[in-house]
Amino acid sequence: MRSKSQSTGEGEEGKKVVVALDLGASKLRIGIFKERKLLDLSVVNTPQGLDEKRFIFAIIKEIKRLLKKHNLDDILGIGIATIGPLDLKAGKVTNTPNIVPHTFELRDPLGDTFKTKIVMANDCVAAVWGEYVLGGWESYHDQVYVTLSTGVGVGVIVEGNLLLGRRGNSHELGHAVINFESELRCGCGKIGHWEAFVGGKNFNNMTKVLAESWRGPRSTAYKEAILGKLDAPKVFKYARLRDPFAEYVVDFVSKASAAGLSTVIAAYDPEVIHLGGSIYLNNEDLLLPRIRSYLFKYSVFEPPIIKRTTFESLTPLYGAASLVYRTPKNLEKYVYVP
Ligand SMILES: [Zn+2]
Repeated sequence: MRSKSQSTGEGEEGKKVVVALDLGASKLRIGIFKERKLLDLSVVNTPQGLDEKRFIFAIIKEIKRLLKKHNLDDILGIGIATIGPLDLKAGKVTNTPNIVPHTFELRDPLGDTFKTKIVMANDCVAAVWGEYVLGGWESYHDQVYVTLSTGVGVGVIVEGNLLLGRRGNSHELGHAVINFESELRCGCGKIGHWEAFVGGKNFNNMTKVLAESWRGPRSTAYKEAILGKLDAPKVFKYARLRDPFAEYVVDFVSKASAAGLSTVIAAYDPEVIHLGGSIYLNNEDLLLPRIRSYLFKYSVFEPPIIKRTTFESLTPLYGAASLVYRTPKNLEKYVYVP
């Protein structure tokens, strides 16, 4: 059931399209939505190594190409789900480690070019809003989206309110400490974080550290790990071949994920957790049963519904569109209005 409190009129919505952007460290996804359905999708490599002006220009060029392809110029708004950290007030991404330029304005350049409403949020924050508005989970007022991917990210709705924080960077729970004695270093530079154990970009280092104290058989996966060459796809591939070291790593990753999720459950008391991100989506068969069993050990509360995210890898993109279709009240003050 659609809410009547949407900030955009239903009649107006029918004729116009929504442009949705999912800006990640490696991929830029742009979607055109009409009547809340994805009409077309473009996936390109995120432009890298450009100055700020050229970077924004590359994004604008791709949006224009997609709109021209369908002869569309009547835009209801542009929703942005982006890598963080954010400064929502300024409409900027600030000091992001994995994109060059590291700091760039996103909201106002798009607004000035397309003369339409621009709404932006962190990608996981947008994703949980996408589940709520377009994913069929509208009757659940407490929900969480978690991505297990290159990094670990979390988006949260409590009592129907999308949580943002001071600058749009709340619940960066990839950096929750799940092992305070570990020396395993996270991409952020600190130690013991959930993302250090589970994030795809830390796998080679994490598996090397595990291999150094492994006393089991010197298997193929072990030999690659000790050389720092055992990445996430290889771990899951070898685990499916019953390699004992790879199976141990999968179990370890599941345990770390359950520890992180139990922190999420204690913090937000959700009714449902949507799990996404390439590490999870590609390996749900191996991870979910183990995560569930460890959660029963760790979580003080009975675990909520835990499920695969509705739109697969496109949930942040659907989230971006949802930000336009129904702008959360607390985001309204950060919206570009032409
Ligand atoms: Zn960290």
